[in-house]
Amino acid sequence: MKYIFVTGGVVSSLGKGLTSAALGALLEQRGLRVRLQKFDPYLNVDPGTMSPFQHGEVYVLNDGAETDLDLGHYERFTSGELSRLNNLTSGKVYETVLQKERRGDYLGATVQVIPHVTNEIKERIYSGGGEDVDVLITELGGTIGDIEGLPFLEAMRQFALEVEREDVLFLHCTLLPYLKAAGELKTKPSQQSVAKLREIGIQPNILVCRTEQPMTNDMRQKLSLFCNVPVKSVIEEMDVETSIYELPLALKAEQIDDLVIEHLELHAPDNDMKVWHDVVRRLKAPLHKVEIGVVGKYIELQDAYKSVYESIIHAGISNDASVRIVRLDAEEIEKDPVKHLASLDGILIPGGFGDRGTEGKIIAARYARENGTPYFGLCLGMQIAVIEYARNVADLEAANSTEFDSDTPHPVIHIMDDQKDLTTKGGNMRLGACPCRLSEDSNSYHAYEQIDIEERHRHRFEFNNAYRAELEKNGLRIAGVNPERDLVEIIEIPDHPWFVAVQFHPEFKSKPNAAHPLFANFIAAALKYKK
Ligand code: GLN
Repeated sequence: MKYIFVTGGVVSSLGKGLTSAALGALLEQRGLRVRLQKFDPYLNVDPGTMSPFQHGEVYVLNDGAETDLDLGHYERFTSGELSRLNNLTSGKVYETVLQKERRGDYLGATVQVIPHVTNEIKERIYSGGGEDVDVLITELGGTIGDIEGLPFLEAMRQFALEVEREDVLFLHCTLLPYLKAAGELKTKPSQQSVAKLREIGIQPNILVCRTEQPMTNDMRQKLSLFCNVPVKSVIEEMDVETSIYELPLALKAEQIDDLVIEHLELHAPDNDMKVWHDVVRRLKAPLHKVEIGVVGKYIELQDAYKSVYESIIHAGISNDASVRIVRLDAEEIEKDPVKHLASLDGILIPGGFGDRGTEGKIIAARYARENGTPYFGLCLGMQIAVIEYARNVADLEAANSTEFDSDTPHPVIHIMDDQKDLTTKGGNMRLGACPCRLSEDSNSYHAYEQIDIEERHRHRFEFNNAYRAELEKNGLRIAGVNPERDLVEIIEIPDHPWFVAVQFHPEFKSKPNAAHPLFANFIAAALKYKK
């Protein structure tokens, strides 16, 4: 197995995660089996408890792990399925070390960062791949110079000492800021961040330079000289024009895959990257146009609904359509629904927690139902649709989820008894992949073209089966059910162009070259019923 370590310098938000994912895509295209993983230096045991304001979306894996959103990039750009072993935080490392200490596993030794913490990290490098993996790419979160990141870097340095030179490669992402007054790109911050890495004992083999302007040859020479990296290993990563999905091709143009393959002494035939050329071609020359409103609470945050936005883009690609995503603040909708909703070709309500904005979302769902606008509800978006239908079609006055009103006379969404757990906030989460059986006459079945599916979950509340018959009698279609626990997973409105709402998160399983079937069908419906 070969190991690539990706670090970042100068600033955060450099797109290290995307660079790692795009490199993974390039290597995979050359026939190598790739796995990606992320080390995050913060102390939370996982990002599950962090607010979207802090950390963007929480990305959920099949095994139920709540992980960093970079794992979403990894899964979208490569085909390997990730597990909870592929996201490690300092909190998790310390938790494990302290448990061992309490158990007496260290046999009386003084427990220290080196070697105990670093050994734990190294263990996760050795075990991060698996038998079916040729190349393991490990990205370190944060920026060189952060105190928190040091044990991880130290572990990587030690690791490199334990394996052969040709088995490990260090890739450092950095920024070349453009100074308007000077009219030039500056290399000094990059030099300094590489100097910091070398101080720790890590010499990067490849330097990936984020830049708004093309690099001159002189600059490559200078970076090479001061950073001790061969000129050909100084890679330019310009901001991409239209889409992040151009990145694999852009990096390919810089021959980064050849450098990696040469350094790691791998044998992998070149590839014409047809899959990625197709994606980019369809993205850049769409035949149709469609406008989708996403109604949420964290609408101003770029990353809070990352996978949802990406899945919409994938569905656009598969329908040869460019999708304009209109981000709508649920609280604004309460004030003037028609103004915000009338021009939309489709309305999507993503997942969420807490009651702020719920009434606005209910108004949006009602608008979609009454006006025949295609509607796609995800998790909370499904619960909202059920509440709306109960109140306004089935006449269940003040129906609600007990999450928002614990005294509602009609708790159409509730926490089930076996999910109740007073040790966690409001109950246990249903997390990760769960089976769902579709009913044959549904839009969902038409989309998936199969009866049994599996999708990822992250929620506490459920459709209340006590109201199932009543809602069905009033025309609601139960289109998907968890066969093991008889939980309602999908609802649809039959006499509507396309109204599908799901208790799970399909956005975690969509890829640029393989749009999720429900997203693809939603966009197709939005195109078909376009106003
Ligand atoms: N807040 C809802 C629940 O816990 C929905 C969660 C979500 O949308 N991910 O059930």
